Amino acid sequence: MPAMTLTEKILAKHSKSAVVEPGQNIWIDIDILMTHDVCGPGTIGVFKKNFGKDAKVWDPKKVVIIPDHYIFTADKMANRNIDVLREFASEQKLPYYYDVGTEKYKGVCHIALPEEGHTRPGEVLLGTDSHTCTAGAFGEFATGIGNTDAGFVMGTGNLWLKVPPTMRFVFDGNLPPYLMAKDLILAVIGDIGCDGATYKAMEFDGPGVFALNIEERMTLCNMVIEAGGKNGVIAPDKITLDFINAKNKHKVPFTPMYTDPGAKFAYEKVYDISKLQPVVAKPHSPDNKSFVSEVKGTKLDRAYIGSCTGGKMTDFRAAASIMHGHNVKIDTFVVPATTEVAKGLKTEKMHGKTLEQIFLDSGAKMGEASCAACLGGPSDTFGRLNQAIRCISTTNRNFPGRMGHKEAEVFLASPLTVAASAISGTITDPREYIA
Ligand code: SF4
Repeated sequence: MPAMTLTEKILAKHSKSAVVEPGQNIWIDIDILMTHDVCGPGTIGVFKKNFGKDAKVWDPKKVVIIPDHYIFTADKMANRNIDVLREFASEQKLPYYYDVGTEKYKGVCHIALPEEGHTRPGEVLLGTDSHTCTAGAFGEFATGIGNTDAGFVMGTGNLWLKVPPTMRFVFDGNLPPYLMAKDLILAVIGDIGCDGATYKAMEFDGPGVFALNIEERMTLCNMVIEAGGKNGVIAPDKITLDFINAKNKHKVPFTPMYTDPGAKFAYEKVYDISKLQPVVAKPHSPDNKSFVSEVKGTKLDRAYIGSCTGGKMTDFRAAASIMHGHNVKIDTFVVPATTEVAKGLKTEKMHGKTLEQIFLDSGAKMGEASCAACLGGPSDTFGRLNQAIRCISTTNRNFPGRMGHKEAEVFLASPLTVAASAISGTITDPREYIA
């Protein structure tokens, strides 16, 4: 039997084949299909057009709908999208619809999925959002698809897919306290470019990866799409399995898989992460890499801490560790990814204060769990860049107009770097605040 990578093994199992190889086109079975308020109505439209207005989804327990993008807005079109989701979830009797304005409301889908037990090693998870790749952190094949494919999956539970070749990124050494997973992935994207992994799996390996907690692994996989990656993946270990077993409230059985010894990789690169420096991506592309030390002192107008990339508890612990006892010098917006994270900010303490109190005392503004300004959104969106200002952000994209105004400039950085920059008003190396 030829040796296969983790991605190939998952796809082989889901195509009921003993072996698959890169470039092969296969039919695969899908474990979970996720959609949200931006793409859900389009997906539902494709599904109804092709399967009939009275058609039923292939398996209601496998369709997860998470409104998260344009939630806290008066925009009528955005509100209408959520009405469409609500009507569909009710009509189809979907148990996993996380409705706005109810106890079930979650926030950003990629963080909500694992919190609610919808991610499991060895599975295939598809979503109508390019950052669905985040779930590769749990040892599964996870990727974004368009509304047409999603409408087809909704009706059949299958997808026609080309097996991607795998690139392997090995992180050796210990991560210094001034670096986070965001620095690692920005370094990788800066090295290989925005098209460096086009239609390839990016597998992260090495002791530096397995020393990361599960949220930091999610940050790594979250941004593979910024290098064109089809999926990111990390083999499941004890940290993964402890997390999954704690969250798997639906008690769905799963089979962890691992890359075979001797599997072929299309590319391999080893990083000594103990020697890296804090990294930023300058406007207007995630591969426009600089070390923070090269752009330090650049004047800023705004700082933003949130999103599926930088709005998890680990991100806020890091930001609070720097912002504690300091006042922000620029407008600073803090947005928890999910309602669970929001609760954590109200309960977890550092230096005798909750993390939320640390942010509020520093002068930052707190938003409600959602994507908020990460994707710009309607003009009343919390934190949106409505003018041509310069922002440093923990989000994942900095294309023109991504966070609002087309002439705004966005620097992407780790929560440590964003927090240090918020309290100085200029791009600042977190090493200035970390002993
Ligand atoms: S937080 Fe940003 S990147 Fe993540 S799903 Fe929402 S809009 Fe997309």
